[in-house]
Amino acid sequence: MNIAERAYSELFPGRSLNKTLAVKYSRAFNAYNANVKYTPFSMTFRLSYEWKKVSDEIKIGLLQLLLLKACNEKKRTLNIDLYERFIKSVGDYAAVTECDPVLEESYARVNEKYFYGMLDKPNLRWGGQSFSKLGTYEYGANMVTISSIFSGEDEKAKELLDYIMYHELLHKKHKFHTKNGRSFHHTKHFRNKEKEFDNPHIEEDLKKFLGKKRFVRVFSRPKKRKFLWF
Ligand SMILES: [Zn+2]
Repeated sequence: MNIAERAYSELFPGRSLNKTLAVKYSRAFNAYNANVKYTPFSMTFRLSYEWKKVSDEIKIGLLQLLLLKACNEKKRTLNIDLYERFIKSVGDYAAVTECDPVLEESYARVNEKYFYGMLDKPNLRWGGQSFSKLGTYEYGANMVTISSIFSGEDEKAKELLDYIMYHELLHKKHKFHTKNGRSFHHTKHFRNKEKEFDNPHIEEDLKKFLGKKRFVRVFSRPKKRKFLWF
């Protein structure tokens, strides 16, 4: 029995398995990322290379979470608890190797203003020109990624960049909260903290900015795009 089969049988005791399960390690991911690809006959879990060194008990928790996602089910196991505890803390020890001067300045402004300069610098990276993913924080990789639509040099773009940065740094600080097999990232406490941003109209400004940017894009590329929030 391989580790994925063990994760399955401990998650769904007695449930028969009609697929082959396999685990592969890949260097193509950011640290501690993972995904699962499936066909009618197989499921392949692709884990970032860092997972090789992690104990099986924690890895089983990760595989079980991916299985639950794939099956669209909710459940709690001891291994999932172990995984979540691990992923919340491992990023705090992750090496900081990626940086960019514009993002670093934004991080420094936000850290000074909202975190009393106490929040360690995470990895900072520009993402693609995305309107649907404005920013992300990856706990395991300790990585903030921000859509490059915010890379403008004017004051408005800088303020919006700081707002997205603030949101992602709040994720780094507050991590996530789990209850009844669900993870909550944008809790009430999180939203209250987010409202402490010093421009109370920032959400409206952001909508306006995205609308304007989108307008320009629609003209340059006549293709319908979905408008989403992060
Ligand atoms: Zn968020």
